[in-house]
Amino acid sequence: PFDVLVLGAGPAGDAAAIYSARKGLRTGLVAERFGGQVMDTAGIENFISVQETEGPKLSAALEAHVRQYDVQIIPSQLAAKLIPATETAGLHQIVLESGATLRSKTVIIATGARWRHLGVPGEDEYRTKGVAYCPHCDGPFYKGRPVVVTGGGNSGVEAAIDLAGIVSHVTLLQRGAHLKADKVLQDKLLSLPNVTVLTNALTTEIEGNGKEVTGLTYSDGDGGLHQVKTDGVFVQIGLLPNTEWLKGALKLSPYGEIVINDHCATSVPGVFAAGDATTVPYKQIVIAMGEGAKASLAAFDYLIRLPVT
Ligand code: FAD
Repeated sequence: PFDVLVLGAGPAGDAAAIYSARKGLRTGLVAERFGGQVMDTAGIENFISVQETEGPKLSAALEAHVRQYDVQIIPSQLAAKLIPATETAGLHQIVLESGATLRSKTVIIATGARWRHLGVPGEDEYRTKGVAYCPHCDGPFYKGRPVVVTGGGNSGVEAAIDLAGIVSHVTLLQRGAHLKADKVLQDKLLSLPNVTVLTNALTTEIEGNGKEVTGLTYSDGDGGLHQVKTDGVFVQIGLLPNTEWLKGALKLSPYGEIVINDHCATSVPGVFAAGDATTVPYKQIVIAMGEGAKASLAAFDYLIRLPVT
């Protein structure tokens, strides 16, 4: 069995695997895809100390760093089930989608998250070419240009407020009749001079010139179609943690995030979690890596306290 079994090879899982191996722990890494969401990212300018990089380049660097260490990589596999140990210091079991079972004294879950998509024509085609999901990441690319934000919940309204300080104009589209964000956020949004809020506006298509986004079409409540000219579309209709497979095994938040404490411990002793799959606030590469390192050090602390057998 492993001392530490890490699930997911995004920034959080890779950091956890490297830290664990450097402690001399028997480490396994279930790596369906190195880099995780980073692989879907074009330019990255906020990974501190690296002024500019690209997703595939950073993902390759993450993989190379992991492979420098004695980490047993289990490629092309997803975890399908967690069976927690039934006694203190017992082994946790992870059943893979292939049906195989892995056993480990500790588990670090770093299965990340995915942005909910609009599912309209143009969204896939123009992803990273004007279609964006992360205002902290991509906002500065649109400095002085007009953008659209879709989604009138807290994340959409926060994104619109954030972007309004950088871009020339923000049009916020809300599918329903009312914004769903907290009242203080709505008040703040409506006080901004360069923001237009459109309600009952359902995005139907994202248009472009073959290279980048040029506009967006929405239908109003009466079925009429309207066009907004824009350089960017920030889709803010939810971040879904990859935790469906954990239901019932440990404590999840109402949003499906794994509930962790400040040591990345979950509700199951010996099972830790890190990164976008958890309740940690702010989903970013630099944060996910820090959390992965923290989860690994916490697993180490747990292991050295296990009774001698
Ligand atoms: P992830 O990166 O989501 O990795 C999780 C991994 O686990 C994935 O490889 C996934 O396939 C795998 N997995 C899923 N389910 C299972 C399972 N059941 N079993 C095993 N493995 C599983 N952040 C920044 O800081 N700067 C940026 O510029 C930036 N730009 C972004 C642009 C885009 C388009 C997107 C989508 C995100 C961006 N982010 C950016 C956010 C950043 O990518 C994430 O915060 C970060 O990748 C989270 O790392 P993670 O390891 O927690 O999860």
